[in-house]
Amino acid sequence: MLVSAKEMLTKAKAGKYAVGQFNINNLEWTKAILLTAQEMNSPVILGVSEGAGKYMCGFKTVADMVKAMIDELKITVPVALHLDHGSYEGAKKCIEAGFSSIMFDGSHYPIAENIEKTKELVDTCNKLGLSLEAEVGAIGGEEDGVIGGGEVADPAECKMIADLGVTMLAAGIGNIHGKYPENWTGLRFDVLAKIQELTGTMPLVLHGGTGIPADMIKEAISLGVSKINVNTECQLAFAAATRKYIEEGKDLQGKGFDPRKLLAPGVEAIKATVKEKIELFGSANKA
Ligand SMILES: [Zn+2]
Repeated sequence: MLVSAKEMLTKAKAGKYAVGQFNINNLEWTKAILLTAQEMNSPVILGVSEGAGKYMCGFKTVADMVKAMIDELKITVPVALHLDHGSYEGAKKCIEAGFSSIMFDGSHYPIAENIEKTKELVDTCNKLGLSLEAEVGAIGGEEDGVIGGGEVADPAECKMIADLGVTMLAAGIGNIHGKYPENWTGLRFDVLAKIQELTGTMPLVLHGGTGIPADMIKEAISLGVSKINVNTECQLAFAAATRKYIEEGKDLQGKGFDPRKLLAPGVEAIKATVKEKIELFGSANKA
């Protein structure tokens, strides 16, 4: 069923595990993630970036597809449909379209403006029973070029945003979106511990989950991370499996060109990735 992310993340924080946010790009992606979460009896968050929303013909198309799929596939585990890195305008559109969770990323604004805009969305989301993720400071990524250390948030600013009453908080602790550079210096557990100390029971969000070693993920969870975003890893798994199918000439055999056959290995690869992450994050059987 489609729910806000609040209850699943409160439980995760208390139970010292994390719920995965897996970004979706199309019907196959969505189906693969929902079926795997159900099979693993795990809560799950479907992430939709503004670009992916546009690609899938708008947020309403996405929300209607997800709701229909939950119904048709008889998905009983808690599912949150979440806007990923939303703009202020994008957040409003997703609220209208029927999303159950919103991320407003005001990290590129000066802190005062981030606070002001986040505060307004806290009120709107609270009234509607939606969960809201806010972000402090920029998290590094490909668009910033290669930065070995990633971006790091200021714990005092994290407390200011947390105190607005958001549901969960994303803060840079040396994590990076996309593939990690070879000279990456690792997660800043000292900063994470400080943020956790100041924000108490607030579920913390780790972005850029692809390629962070398992032991670092586990340590981050032990220090209060209760939501981990995975996007690139599913894309790499899908692409590799599709490449293999075509390179082996399977699309040229019989009806191998049928999109339902052509996309099947990629879907299985996404399922395997999601399963592996659910096991690592510890959310299996926590639905
Ligand atoms: Zn992110």
